Amino acid sequence: MTPGLPPGAAVLLVEDDLATRREVAAFLRGHGFRVDEAGDAAAAWDRWTAQRPDLVMLDLGLPDVDGTVLIRRIRRDAATPILVLSARDREAEKVAALESGADDYVTKPFGAAELLARVRAVLRRAAGPAAEPTGEVLVGDLRMDVARHEVTVAGRPILLTPREFEVFKVLLVSAGRLVTHGRLLRAVWGTAYSDEAHYLHVYVSQIRRKIAAADPTGDLAGLIVAEPGVGYRVRLPDTDRS
Ligand code: CA
Repeated sequence: MTPGLPPGAAVLLVEDDLATRREVAAFLRGHGFRVDEAGDAAAAWDRWTAQRPDLVMLDLGLPDVDGTVLIRRIRRDAATPILVLSARDREAEKVAALESGADDYVTKPFGAAELLARVRAVLRRAAGPAAEPTGEVLVGDLRMDVARHEVTVAGRPILLTPREFEVFKVLLVSAGRLVTHGRLLRAVWGTAYSDEAHYLHVYVSQIRRKIAAADPTGDLAGLIVAEPGVGYRVRLPDTDRS
């Protein structure tokens, strides 16, 4: 287990495809997790209320209701991390799941390392202190002082424009989670701009360039990961390395 994680964290695995469910459950158990299984949303809701797991992993295509309905229902109840098991090339579906309150997704068929990294990242984030909008955010050598609008890499300041700072702030306070283009645009530009994803590409490129210039070791290269058609995530360096 990753240091700082509770041993035997409890996972509720919601997946109607039996072969996939068995495979993922065995994999997680092999890594020390306790796994509770459900094959549809009704069973999942029963298990959720009875067990209150540390993490919910769910397939969106369930036989009774759409997985996003279950996500919204759980989200109204608790801030428990939710990881979506998604088919490839379903960007719209991934966005809908994230906007319903899911924390991240892994794409089927899973790479074992990717699956474990995503599980650990969302659990670690849930176990950590809540991001303080007025405080400091620290990811590896990078530090953001939100109140002072300052960003440093190993003590060296990076000069960001106000917009770049706002984009980076939304990503950093959600480090370890996937932030959709829509959520970023609404947070920085407002609701009227929620379809202008190309803005973000420009701003993220500039932020990456400025970080790289202040980071001669290259440790922060790949800090901001793009998920094409979906959004961006800041990697947590200790958990996503695999
Ligand atoms: Ca399914």
